Amino acid sequence: MDTLQQAWLQGEDWGGKVYSNGWQAVDSRLDVIEPATGKRLGTIGTASGSDVATAAKAARDAQAAWADVPYDERSSLMLRVVAKAQEHFEEIVDWLVREAGAIRPRAEFEFGLMVTALREAAFMPSQAQGILLPGPSTRISFARRVPLGVVGVISPFNFPLILAMRAVAPALAVGNAVVLKPDPRTSVSGGFVLAKLFEEAGLPKGLLHVLPGGADAGAALCSDPNVAMIQFTGSSAAGRKVGELAGRHLKKLSLELGGKNSLIVLDDADLDIAASNAAWGAYLHQGQICMSSGRILVQERVADAFAEKLAARATHLPCGDPFTGQVAIGPMISDGQLQHAKGIVDATVAAGAKLLAGGTHDGLVYHPTVLGGVTPAMPAFKEEIFGPVAVLTSFGSDDEAVELANDTEYGLSAGIISRSVGRALAIGNRLRVGLLHINDQTVADEVVNPFGGRGASGNGTSIGGPANWEEFTQWQWVTIKDQAAAYPM
Ligand code: NAD
Repeated sequence: MDTLQQAWLQGEDWGGKVYSNGWQAVDSRLDVIEPATGKRLGTIGTASGSDVATAAKAARDAQAAWADVPYDERSSLMLRVVAKAQEHFEEIVDWLVREAGAIRPRAEFEFGLMVTALREAAFMPSQAQGILLPGPSTRISFARRVPLGVVGVISPFNFPLILAMRAVAPALAVGNAVVLKPDPRTSVSGGFVLAKLFEEAGLPKGLLHVLPGGADAGAALCSDPNVAMIQFTGSSAAGRKVGELAGRHLKKLSLELGGKNSLIVLDDADLDIAASNAAWGAYLHQGQICMSSGRILVQERVADAFAEKLAARATHLPCGDPFTGQVAIGPMISDGQLQHAKGIVDATVAAGAKLLAGGTHDGLVYHPTVLGGVTPAMPAFKEEIFGPVAVLTSFGSDDEAVELANDTEYGLSAGIISRSVGRALAIGNRLRVGLLHINDQTVADEVVNPFGGRGASGNGTSIGGPANWEEFTQWQWVTIKDQAAAYPM
């Protein structure tokens, strides 16, 4: 058995199990595969529809008592989870590296984001929870934020730990119970780690259930009568299905979906800095980030020089197994994901784009790729690739940059690099995005900021920082009279 299983996250705790009122063995199982090597790291249990129903009922039963727990106790619990996580820092990071294919610095960064999410959640219970409203002096009228009940969280594989915790921690902190369905490919780092941390920190039973599973388990969560809200992070295609189902069952819904994000390089930019921003934005975590710089728009006058600089960077980035080597590019999560990226690259080259770097792979490690001369008619311009591919398109005027950047159904993130902040902001103000970065690439999240997209990138909700009250509670209007008075009827 692998060394990872002999420590805190022992396979015997979770092997063949789901976490629902403690660890429960289930019939359906799935191997956890290390994408860089194909090695089996363990075996998880996967939830059936009836496991989801049982968990949602147990969560509903446990929630009211939890909402009554004094605010400082809920807050302290979040801080105890931070302390527990810090005790097991090395092991959690190792799991992110091996299960999700993250390079170590990126895994450590994700761990840091998780800590921030927990600390931010710890502040929530002690904040003011409502507002005093005007009204007659014979009546007190106020509105307060109340927990929703049971929040169903459906999370993806790419940043499994933070994308689960950014919902689980604030949802619990404000008095909800949670049923988490992580992606089956990353259910240890994106699910069982959270179960272990909250259990050991003393979260009462029934308040957090972790049920790995696929679309079926997710759909069961979206239609369960005991679930009040679905917080979904994943592809726009699955988000549409989740939205339909959750809408039919009248659930509150938060959708954080895909992106095709433009990094715009203006002709007054420092091209070495711009190329390093582009490499980071396009290649970080093998381009498997919703905010990846999926389109790099470069002003014509500097386009050739920029492409040369980016291709030189791409060619020199070390690639391989992030657990055994110091690499910048690790494996993609699965062969399906790799074939998807490869298919778009090949079709775009066939349509006339120039392959300036990469385009090849070793196992699941797809080499950082640069496609030059991409036009809006080519597949790489339109589709979310979710692979380490820089797609270069040139433009003439600033107006044309705006037009190209907005030529997408998505609307998540944009970055603009220029020596003139005024000029960059004038462009940025015209972009239909939820996240806008002047003099930076497109990948950024600090958890304290509201995070959300427009168009096919979401349904107008945001998660993180000041958005979390809106997300995980709802208003309740309360009036109080000293005594009931008669009405003229
Ligand atoms: P995915 O949509 O295939 O899966 C995401 C989650 O949804 C998984 O847990 C999966 O099991 C579940 N799921 C899939 N189909 C479902 C259905 N019909 N009903 C209920 N649940 C279902 O996405 P993925 O390929 O794992 O992740 C990559 C996608 O996620 C990309 O499009 C990326 O841009 C997006 N993403 C968005 C954000 C964001 O915050 N906006 C963050 C990370 C990833």
